[in-house]
Amino acid sequence: MSHSIEPSTCKGPLPDEVLEKYIRAGKIAARVREEAKRIVREGMKLLEICETIENMIRDLGGSPAFPCNISVNEVAAHYTSPPNDARVIPEGALVKVDVGVHIDGYIADTAATICFSPEYEDMIHAAERALEAALRIMRPGLMISRVSSEIQSVIERYGFKPISNLSGHEIGRYMIHAGKSIPNVSHLSIERIRSGGVYAIEPFITFKDAAGRVEDGPEKYIFRLVKTKTALKSANAKSLLRFIEENFRTLPFAERWLKKRYASESYKTALSELLSSKCLMAYPVFIEVSRRPVAQAEHTVYVGERDIIILT
Ligand code: MN
Ligand code: MN
Repeated sequence: MSHSIEPSTCKGPLPDEVLEKYIRAGKIAARVREEAKRIVREGMKLLEICETIENMIRDLGGSPAFPCNISVNEVAAHYTSPPNDARVIPEGALVKVDVGVHIDGYIADTAATICFSPEYEDMIHAAERALEAALRIMRPGLMISRVSSEIQSVIERYGFKPISNLSGHEIGRYMIHAGKSIPNVSHLSIERIRSGGVYAIEPFITFKDAAGRVEDGPEKYIFRLVKTKTALKSANAKSLLRFIEENFRTLPFAERWLKKRYASESYKTALSELLSSKCLMAYPVFIEVSRRPVAQAEHTVYVGERDIIILT
């Protein structure tokens, strides 16, 4: 997942037992991402892909850190299947699969792009090279703007355009977006990569003639807890809030994950109440403004004092 800015919570090098959990989460995320590349096919139901990926994470001993994102063509990010989703992978599609795994709240975030038409191969290649170039220069104290301009210059060298309003991000415990963001275009900033930080780097790119920006689409299928102290009217809303707090804490979740818990559709009114009382926020699906296809590559990296570990 991508974007957003939250205050940073932890400073300094990570204790070994924490780093070990990040490493475990990263291994699972990498394995699941590679498996996703093998299983995704034209005509396949998005719902089946989401559920297969999320179950695989659980079978490997992790927990999904956010719902599996399957974003097709001009949809850049934040699409996950709603309950009973009938959508399928269209013919000739460009498909981003974005996977998050956590162990005890320590998150690894990674994504790959798959295509079913040769016209997108160069774009995927450019996104991957931009990511590699950024990872190669990562070190404590490096200006974040330097990472951004490296990403942008590789993308442009390949003849593509970065998405200017989607960025990588620092990761905190139970917080997918914590601390600093890492834009994919050069910008003025004095922020630096810090020792002990965990960062998701994620170039998003499109064709040169595209707008190179995303806008919020009307659909919202991913939610997150933002506030627990509110006077809620219904007992259903109170119990749903408790369920969310206990199971997902401050991590994003899907409506599908609520539906599984509640046999009837009763959770729906409770969910609406939690949204209108601002206990939850909803992530809109991001769509490229000029409706051109978008590719993405993403890894999570730990920046140690002496060495850099690509976790995914
Ligand atoms: Mn991310
Ligand atoms: Mn991601």
